[in-house]
Amino acid sequence: MTEPVRTCVGCRRRADKSTLIRIVRTGADLELDLRQRSPGRGAYLHRELGCLDQAIKKRALGRALRADGIGPDQQAALRTAFEALLG
Ligand SMILES: [Zn+2]
Repeated sequence: MTEPVRTCVGCRRRADKSTLIRIVRTGADLELDLRQRSPGRGAYLHRELGCLDQAIKKRALGRALRADGIGPDQQAALRTAFEALLG
């Protein structure tokens, strides 16, 4: 069995799924899906703030999650959670 591979929505490089962070949209909110099991549309990012910032700047996150209305508050909350995760 080979490791599943996903594309990081920030830098567009491919990586093993297990090394990426899954972001999932639950209703209007974005959450870090640490167990990679939540239902719904997900997007994958490297464990790097730079990738999250690129994804937000390029609106790639909204596209991947079909959440065009991702507002600044939701982005800020996601970034805070992401930062906390990275330590
Ligand atoms: Zn990346």
